[in-house]
Order: sequence, then structure tokens, then C-alpha cells
Amino acid sequence: MQGCGVIIVGAGFGGLVTTLGLQRFGLSCRVFEKAPALEEVGAGISLSPNSTRVLIALGLRRQLDQICNSPEALCTKHFETGEVRALNESVNYEKQYGAPYYQVHRADLHALLTETVLGNDPDAIHLNRDFVGFESRGNSVEARFADGSSASGEVLIGCDGIKSVMRDLLWRPGKPHYLGYVAYRGLTPVDRLPDGLIAPPSATFSGPGRHFTRYLIRGKELVNYVAFAQRAEWTDEGWFVGAGIDEVLENFVGWAPEVLHIIKNTRGGHCHKWGLFGRSPLSRWTRERATLLGDAAHPMLPFLGQGSSIAIEDGFVLARALAEYDDPATALAKYEAARLPRANETVQQSAAQGERKHRRPEPGDTMRELLQTQLFAYDATSVAI
Ligand SMILES: Cc1cc2nc3c(=O)[nH]c(=O)nc-3n(C[C@H](O)[C@H](O)[C@H](O)COP(=O)(O)OP(=O)(O)OC[C@H]3O[C@@H](n4cnc5c(N)ncnc54)[C@H](O)[C@@H]3O)c2cc1C
Repeated sequence: MQGCGVIIVGAGFGGLVTTLGLQRFGLSCRVFEKAPALEEVGAGISLSPNSTRVLIALGLRRQLDQICNSPEALCTKHFETGEVRALNESVNYEKQYGAPYYQVHRADLHALLTETVLGNDPDAIHLNRDFVGFESRGNSVEARFADGSSASGEVLIGCDGIKSVMRDLLWRPGKPHYLGYVAYRGLTPVDRLPDGLIAPPSATFSGPGRHFTRYLIRGKELVNYVAFAQRAEWTDEGWFVGAGIDEVLENFVGWAPEVLHIIKNTRGGHCHKWGLFGRSPLSRWTRERATLLGDAAHPMLPFLGQGSSIAIEDGFVLARALAEYDDPATALAKYEAARLPRANETVQQSAAQGERKHRRPEPGDTMRELLQTQLFAYDATSVAI
């Protein structure tokens, strides 16, 4: 694509990485975000080699090494006794897959991406712009916002998350449906815990109907945890709400002392509770010069920790396609053909992993080697488009 004008809706990880990719290839773009300020929730995120490879290709290696941890050892523990059931003491994803595995505070990663985008182009991000509609006009697309303003470009990309307006406009309107899980996310200062409790740095406890995963972030000063529980209904208002630690503890009665210590010492005495929602997979994302990316196209359960990583892959492949093909509609078709099967497959695999994690533990329940290779070895910087 030549000339100017990619319009991106949404400044989450998907929108920002797409912007960085387009900037890298010298294509002009602007991001429109409905929030009045750029921020991320107070929680950790794990990034597997399939996405860190992209972030490194975008020139961010040095900064990532400063803000992220790479787990040296991973383990699964028995949910009641805390006994180690499987331990990998010499994790070296970089050697195995050519890129590291990172664990980081979401706000730190979001700040790094935002600063880099704005360093490349101080006018790239427009806040307080609530996208409400668009119109295709031959070779251009006009995006409209709730405040009455509009923006024109050659291509429009909806990176507006699971509740995507763009998805409803492109395809049949629909509502996300509750998938039967709640996730409590909290941060616990390491210095409040008994010495030696957090060993090794990353661990997962799986039990019937529940699972608890924890790892270190912010220079190993904070334990980030996500506690998942199956629940028939989501009755709270909104997608995520505050939750007291008593509520989390009620869900983990009888669990290993390590789990209970971490929950009881949650910073501020409270965490956030998320209902996990999904949408039916789409068989198309693109219409002419408009397409979808990230959670807007393929929201997934977080049981493989892949939602952001797959959005990051999407963003780089889309930028490559727009740089490579002169005709924007061809570029979007190539992007969709390269990405849709992998994204929908990961949606399915994430749901299956949830079922495995929430039954009584069985030998061989850790992420299957084949699945890990399929996910982690993917190279968005060189895959055919
Ligand atoms: C409990 C939990 C744990 C997770 N852990 C991991 C993990 O460890 N690793 C991982 O890779 N993924 C993880 N995920 C998934 C990950 O958080 C998402 O897949 C990812 O954030 C999606 O990014 P996105 O940019 O597509 O969407 P979002 O992050 O939702 O960003 C969408 C953006 O669009 C904006 N927006 C929305 N509507 C409009 C509009 N009308 N106009 C303008 N702007 C708009 C929003 O304000 C937002 O900034 C987890 C998810 C959950 C729930």
C-alpha cells in the first residue's frame, strides 16, 4: 500500500502493535481510542515466544529486558498439598524457539508501546474518540465518532476488543456470552510472604473446578496471580468488578497454604474479578477496506495465555501485508487468509485447555508439547502472506 491513511480503532495491545508495525514499514496511520487516558489494568501478562519475536522485530528488546521477567523454572503443584507434580528447572524458550518468554505488568508493557508509538509520531494517538460507525466511499473509508468528528483513510481496522462496535457493523450484531468462569486477578508484595514461599518463580495449581496460577513481575517484587473458578452465572454489573479477598478465599477453601498466603496478602486487601465472555467464531473478518484484529476478531479464554500474543501476531502480519501489496483490499484479504485459521484454532484450543485444567489432575495434564510448539514456534515476521 502506498500513500497515507490506515485508521485504527482501539489502543489496546492489538491496536498499538499494529501501529508500530505500520510505522516500521513507513505507512501512515492514526489510532482512535475512546478512553480519555491511556492505561491498563493492574495485573500481569505473559507473552510467549510467538509474540516476543514480534516485539523484538519492532526494536523493543532492550526495553523489554528491563521491564519483564523471564521464568527460569516452571512447575505445576498439587492443589491441596502444594507438592510439586511437574518441574522444568531449566526453561530456555529462547534456545528452543528463538525468542524469550516474558512476564510483565500490563501497565508497563502498555506504557512502553504507547511511548514508542508517540516517539515515532506525536500525533498518532487520538483519545476520547468513541467509534460509532463508518462508510466506504470507493477508495476511502470514513470513520465516525460519538462527538460528531470523523476521520478518513484508505483502510479501517477494528481493534476495539471483545465488545467491538466494528464487528457488529461488519457482521451480524451480537452480544458476548458468558462462558462459565470467573477470574480473580491480584498482586501480592513478595516481602509480605514467608521467605522461600515463591519457589520456583512460576507455578500453577489445578484442581476440580478451580485453578490458580502465579508468577513474579516488577523486578520480582510482586506476585501476580490469577485465580479461576467455574461458576454457572455472571450476575455482576459490567465485565470486571472489585472483589474482596474473602470472596477469593471462599473459592479456595482447603487449597495449599502457599495459595492461601498469596491471596490473604493481596495488595490493598482486594483484587479484580472478571467474568470470562466469548463470541461465536467468525468465518470472515474483512469487507472491502475494513477488517478486525485481536479480541474484536477472536476473543478467547485465557487458559493458554494467548489472547494478547495472537493479537500481536495479527498486528505484525497485517502491517506486512499492507506494506507488501499495493491494493489495500488485496492486502486485507491476504492478512485474513494468513491469520484466521490460526486464531480460530487457538480459540478452540484455549477452551479445551480450560476443561483439562479444571478437572481432577491427571498425569500428563501440562500443556501438550505439540500444542506448545504449534503456538510458540509461529513466526509472524516471516510467515507466508
Ligand atoms: C483474566 C485474563 C487473563 C489474561 N491473561 C493473558 C496472558 O497472560 N497473555 C495473553 O496473551 N493474553 C491474556 N489475556 C487476554 C488479553 O488480555 C486480551 O486478549 C488482549 O488484551 C486483547 O487485546 P486487544 O487489543 O485486541 O483488545 P483490548 O485490550 O480489549 O483493547 C481494545 C481497546 O479498544 C478500545 N475501544 C473499545 N471500543 C471502542 C470504540 N467504540 N471506539 C474507540 N476505542 C474503543 C478500548 O478502550 C481498548 O483500549 C487475558 C485475559 C483475561 C480476561
